[in-house]
Formats: sequence, structure tokens, C-alpha cells
Amino acid sequence: MITASPGARITPAPGAPAGDWRQLWREAITDGAELLALLGLPELAAQLPPADAGFALRVPRGFAARMRHGDPRDPLLLQVLPQLAELDQVPGFVADAVGDMAAREAQGVLHKYHGRALLIASGSCAVNCRYCFRRHFPYGEEMAAAGQWRQALEHVRQDATIGELILSGGDPLALSTSKLDELSRGLADIPHVTRLRIHTRLPVVLPERVDDAFGAWLAALPLQKVVVLHANHANEFDAGVDAACARLRQASATLLNQSVLLRGVNDDADALAALSERLFAAGVLPYYLHQLDRVQGAAHFAVDDARALALLDAVRARLPGYLVPKLVREVGGEPSKRPL
Ligand SMILES: *Cc1c(COP(=O)(O)O)cnc(C)c1O
Ligand code: SF4
Repeated sequence: MITASPGARITPAPGAPAGDWRQLWREAITDGAELLALLGLPELAAQLPPADAGFALRVPRGFAARMRHGDPRDPLLLQVLPQLAELDQVPGFVADAVGDMAAREAQGVLHKYHGRALLIASGSCAVNCRYCFRRHFPYGEEMAAAGQWRQALEHVRQDATIGELILSGGDPLALSTSKLDELSRGLADIPHVTRLRIHTRLPVVLPERVDDAFGAWLAALPLQKVVVLHANHANEFDAGVDAACARLRQASATLLNQSVLLRGVNDDADALAALSERLFAAGVLPYYLHQLDRVQGAAHFAVDDARALALLDAVRARLPGYLVPKLVREVGGEPSKRPL
């Protein structure tokens, strides 16, 4: 094996002006062999599934730069690297694992739980996470942002029980800040909506997205704001992510994190405790630790419930209660996420 020189390490592409998140988005790595070569693991390329297996590799260079060089078990690499195991048909792992198609009420609106409606704001993500339900969701027809949010906002306007609007996806921060501004202007005359929650992985995988314009938009929103980040491992954090979190907090957002329990990535007590500590250092509280959605192609990440509960007990025994996430599973048709 050829040992890569430090010069072969991944750095953001030269010439990209710092803060230009769209350019960084476009420059993401989409070729598995390129990623593996950059990490000094070219021999693993022979184990990649065929490129047309349905859900392409996609990872921003800045996120790849946080992977350990030469480590095929790196917890960030395992989240994004396509595996042959994804092609296995495993009983119980299906395309629409959480009943999203049944909960659809208007274009891009999912209304499953009392008091909060979820808008599928965007079908795009800067990163393709291998465990994600999104690989099977028919986003083409389901985007709330299509048509200036009109249909989605009309649904919210008609239902005064909706106090909280959740932007999800895909990643809602894939939208331009001006598109988000169209939404917030549309919300201005819906007085029963008092909270806006944004579920996003972008501040972690492409922290440049939290730029001046976005910070200004968020700060000016006349609503309570919650941003739920999606980080699964402490190594996903670096100074850029810390800066993005600081900016979100300066815009008066409450910061929470949800993770997915993933075999080989974060299924040990040390990793989970380190994640909680690292989140808090960035000003983020752990919210949910999700049992994996039983999505076709993700079975190799599954951790059984007994182990999951034992892991949480171990975390609880060493961290303050506010750093212990709630272990939940999403079950179609239930009135909330189900605690384990
Ligand atoms: C998960 C989810 C929510 C949010 O649930 P919380 O328990 O409030 O975090 C809301 N709507 C839908 C459709 C969801 O899947
Ligand atoms: S929706 Fe979230 S978990 Fe799924 S690919 Fe996008 S960023 Fe990853």
C-alpha cells in the first residue's frame, strides 16, 4: 500500500472563497474511488457497489477532511460510503419505513403529531447519508417550497392547532435564504404559528451555509426558533461547526441535536458520551437518539433494542441527565415518537 503524503489530504478546493456555500456544495465529492484515494484507502474501491445502485455517494470536502486518514472504520466515512450490503434484501426493511405517504395532507406537508406540522421544504442534501429514509422518498412531487409555499401555507393557515412549523426534508437549508424569506413572509399573517423549527444537517456537514445572510434572516424572524442539528459522532465537529452553532445561537435559536444509533459508527457508550459532551461544548443539547428507521438498504446499521437500551443505561450512568438523549423509534400511525 502506498502511504499518502500529507499533501494528499483533503482540503477544501483551492480558489473557493470562504463562505461561498453554493460553490462548496457543488464541489462535493461524488466519486467513491476519489474519496477513498484521498483518504489513503484506494484498495477499498474494489468493494464499492455499482455506481447506479440508486443512491449516489455525496459528501462535502470539508466533512471528508474530518475523516481519519487511512482508517476504513472511520465513523464519518461509514456514514457516507456505499456498501455492497445495501443491496441485500432484508425482511422488515422497506421503502416507506415510517408511513410518510399516509401522513401527507397537502403538497409537502406531513401532519402526524398534535400541534406541529412538518414541511418537506427541499429534497436536496449536501451529503447522502447511507442510513437515510430519503433514498426512497418521491421528492419530485412533494416539495412544499414549490409554488412559493402556497399550498403548504394554506394548510397551516386552516388549522389553528398548528403552533409549530417544522422545516425538514431533505435539508431545508438547501434552499436559498431568499426562498426561506418567502416562507417567513407567508407566515406573518398566520398568528397561531409561534415557533419555527428547522431540522438540518447542513451546519454540521457544510457549516459555511450559516452565512451572514442566513444569520440575519433567522435573527429577524418574529417567532421562537429551534434548530435541530443532525450529528451522529463527536468527530463531525470542528471549529467551523462551532462557529456555525455560535451564529445560530446569536440569532436566538435554541439548538438541539438528533442522532441515529448506527452500528459501527456510534454504537458504544464512549462514542455516545463523547458526542453529548461535544454537542454541549458547541452550545447544543442532545434531543433524540433514534433507532434506525427500517429502510431498505440500511439493515447493516441496525442495533437491536436490548443493546440500544444497555448503551443508554451506560451513558446515563456517566453523564448529567441533560446530556442524555431520549431513545426513540418512529412508528407509523402513532401520536408521537415511541420511547424505548
Ligand atoms: C418527528 C416528526 C415531528 C417532530 O416530532 P417531535 O417529537 O416534536 O420532535 C413532527 N412531525 C413529523 C411528521 C415527524 O416525523
Ligand atoms: S435527510 Fe438528513 S440523514 Fe438523510 S441524506 Fe439528508 S442529511 Fe442525510
